[in-house]
Amino acid sequence: MIRFYKTPWFTRLWYPDLVWSIQSQNSIYLTFDDGPIPKVTEWILDELKKVNARATFFCIGKNLEANTVIGKRIIEEGHQIGNHTYSHLNGWKTTTSNYLEDVRLGEEVIREQGVDSTLFRPPYGRIKRGQIKRFSKKLIMWSHLSWDFDSNLNVEKSISKLKCAKPGSILVFHDSERAFENLKLILPEILAHFQSKGFKFEAIS
Ligand SMILES: [Zn+2]
Repeated sequence: MIRFYKTPWFTRLWYPDLVWSIQSQNSIYLTFDDGPIPKVTEWILDELKKVNARATFFCIGKNLEANTVIGKRIIEEGHQIGNHTYSHLNGWKTTTSNYLEDVRLGEEVIREQGVDSTLFRPPYGRIKRGQIKRFSKKLIMWSHLSWDFDSNLNVEKSISKLKCAKPGSILVFHDSERAFENLKLILPEILAHFQSKGFKFEAIS
């Protein structure tokens, strides 16, 4: 499962219209994929609130549908919601029509929350050129991956790599049960580090 997260280096050359970082003077862009999940997403929201940080949540439609109260909280607290498909499909293994239908379902769930999101992140970072062409949304990738979902993660190494982020960097975390133990160690450190350097944490718009 983990290997799917490795986006090959050549992806960046093939797909220049994907967003890998954002033009910014002093903001870091935190993103959380795969939620919302009770306890995990709520813990993240509490941590973000402590330092007045805004972030972007790329929600799986199924999870958002099952956790609309948490979805509301994400929106009310000033964060952005993005589409991450309805059922977390791998674009490379899915026909374009099936893929776009799943994206549309995800979209519907987000709209039921009263949000018209312009953001999309492909699960596993895997999407075909033909699928991209059909999108009118911003396809948000990342510059720094925390690997928080990896149960064998060297947490200190992950933290030191994330600390190399610069203004405009897009960091990826996961609000999933699988990532939670690592996230509890990584996120507070990252928030404290960049806050002490005077950075702002902004949602992607
Ligand atoms: Zn995902």
